[in-house]
Amino acid sequence: MIKILGIEHIGIAVKNRDKTSNFFKNILGIKNPISEEIIDQKVITEIFNTSKGKLELLESTSLESPIHKFIEKRGNAIHHIALSVENIDSSLKYLKEKNVQLIDEIPRIGAEGFKIAFIHPKATGGILIELCQKNK
Ligand code: ZN
Repeated sequence: MIKILGIEHIGIAVKNRDKTSNFFKNILGIKNPISEEIIDQKVITEIFNTSKGKLELLESTSLESPIHKFIEKRGNAIHHIALSVENIDSSLKYLKEKNVQLIDEIPRIGAEGFKIAFIHPKATGGILIELCQKNK
């Protein structure tokens, strides 16, 4: 089964994160973002915690990065929505039983050490959805 606990974050792809980052920090006043390089996804993330849902900026570190390819096609844009689930392993098992196409059949480790897995946009009507579970 799957139990959705809420929206964990919204992932936003940007060619260069400075402008958006400064806007979030200096105009909106969302302080102390956490920046991290995710090697296997070839991105730098910068996460702003609004206290009710996070905003995750994604900047590619390589021309091979999926984020680079996304921006080439669509420009700066919302890239994915991340939903918190209670148990990511049983969620993925449930989705497989429902024949939902997955990008990640097994969870990997994403930003902030969360276990994450992406659902294929073909299964959702074109929206990229990330499931995540906070490591306890
Ligand atoms: Zn994300």
